Amino acid sequence: MSDLKLRRNFGIAAHIDAGKTTTTERILRYTGMIHRTGEVHDGGATTDWMEQEKERGITITSAAVSCQWPFPTQQGKALPDTKKYSFNIIDTPGHVDFTVEVERSMRVLDGLIALFSAVDGVEPQSETVWRQANRYKVPRIGFVNKMDRSGADFLNVVAQIKEMLGAKAVPLQLPIGAEDNFKGVVDLITNKGIIWEDSTEGMTYSEVPIPEDMVEDVEYWRGQLIEAVAEYDDTLMEKFFDDPNSISEDEVHEAIRKACIDLSIIPMMCGSSFKNKGVQTALDAVCRYLPSPVDIEAIEGSDVNDPEKKLYRKPDAKEPFSALAFKIMTDPFVGRLAFFRCYSGHLDAGSYVLNVRSGKNERISRIMKMFANKQNPVEFIEAGDIGAAVGFKDIKTGDTLCDEKNPIVLENMFIPEPVIAIA
Ligand code: GDP
Repeated sequence: MSDLKLRRNFGIAAHIDAGKTTTTERILRYTGMIHRTGEVHDGGATTDWMEQEKERGITITSAAVSCQWPFPTQQGKALPDTKKYSFNIIDTPGHVDFTVEVERSMRVLDGLIALFSAVDGVEPQSETVWRQANRYKVPRIGFVNKMDRSGADFLNVVAQIKEMLGAKAVPLQLPIGAEDNFKGVVDLITNKGIIWEDSTEGMTYSEVPIPEDMVEDVEYWRGQLIEAVAEYDDTLMEKFFDDPNSISEDEVHEAIRKACIDLSIIPMMCGSSFKNKGVQTALDAVCRYLPSPVDIEAIEGSDVNDPEKKLYRKPDAKEPFSALAFKIMTDPFVGRLAFFRCYSGHLDAGSYVLNVRSGKNERISRIMKMFANKQNPVEFIEAGDIGAAVGFKDIKTGDTLCDEKNPIVLENMFIPEPVIAIA
C-alpha cells in the first residue's frame, strides 16, 4: 500500500484569466520532467516535453491529472530525505454558471491553491468559489500570480483577501523587485532570498541575501507570520516572546500546517507562472501545508435506506470500498470514463461494484490514471486516490459506488440550481 501521507488531492481555484491554465501547464512540465528522467533538473527532457505540446491540452482539461513531485529538495536537487509525493490535481471550474460542478469538485479534493492575479486581485467570481470552499472546509494556500505584470501588488491582494473574503491571509514571502523587474521572493521562514533563473525548465534558482532595502519589511512581516501561527504551538508562542531567533524553520512550518488545515490562515505566496517563477515553491507548500487523505479522520455517509442514519468510512485500504463518481467524460480512446474518488477500501480492475443509485452491480473492465501526456491503466485504486473507471453502463456524476455487502450513500450534499451568470 502506498503511503497516504505522501498523497495530495488538490485543485486550483481561480478567476478566469488569473493564469490557471498556465500554472497547471507549468506544474505538468516541471513534474513531467521528473517523471521521465527521475531527475529534478535535466535540460534534455525539455525538448522531449515540447514535442508533446499538442497532446497536453487534452490532459489539462481532464477532470483529474496525476503527477509526482519530489520534496524537499535543495536548489532543485534531491536530498537524502527527499520523498516522492503523488499529486492528483482536480479540475475546479472557474465559471459561476458551473456552480454544481464547483460544489462537487470541492467535495472530492482535500485542499486548494487559490490563484489570484497580482493586478486584478479579488474579483466577484473569486468570492463565489471561496464561499463554496468555506462550506466544504477546504484548506487553502494562496498564490498571487502575474507578479511580472505592470500594476502587480502582492500585499494589496493580501489585504483584499482579508477585507473582501474575510480570511486571514498571511504572507510567507515578499517579492523581490516588481513588474518587469520581478526577480524572486524573500522567504520569511528561512530569511533567504530566492531568485529563479530565467529558463523554461524553471527548476533552478539561487539563494541571495535579503536586499538591504527590504530588511525592515521582512522583519515586520516575519513577525506577523509567527504571531499568526504561534497560537497553534505553545513552545513557538513562548519562544516568540522570549527569543524569536530561537524559533526553528520546522517549528514554523508545522504551525503553519496546523493553522492552514484548521482554516485559520491562508498562507500566501507569489510569483509569475508565465516566467517560471514561484510555482515550484507553491508545490513545495502543497506538500508542506495541505492535508493528505489521512488528515481527515473519516468520511460521512448515510444508510441506503435511512438518510438520517450516519455511516462513516476511514481513509484506509482495509475498510469496505466506497467512492464518489465526480465527473463523467468521453474519451476518444477508451470511451466513457467515470472519474471517482475512492474514500475507503480499494477497487480492482475487473471487479464488481454496487452503484447505490441504480441498485446495479457493475463490472469495471479497466481503471485508468491520467498523467500529463498519457493514460495509464492501473490494477487498482485505493483509499485516498483518484482514478477513472471504464465499463459502467449506467453512471452519473454524484453516484456513490461501494461494496455490495457494505452499502453507503456518500453524496448527500445540497446541490443548488445552476446560477445563470448575468454579464
Ligand atoms: P486562465 O483563464 O486562468 O486559465 O488563464 P491563462 O493561464 O489562460 O492566462 C491568461 C493570460 O495571462 C494568458 O495570456 C497568459 O499567457 C497570461 N499569463 C498567465 N500567467 C501569467 C504571468 O504570470 N505573467 C504574465 N505576464 N502573464 C501571464
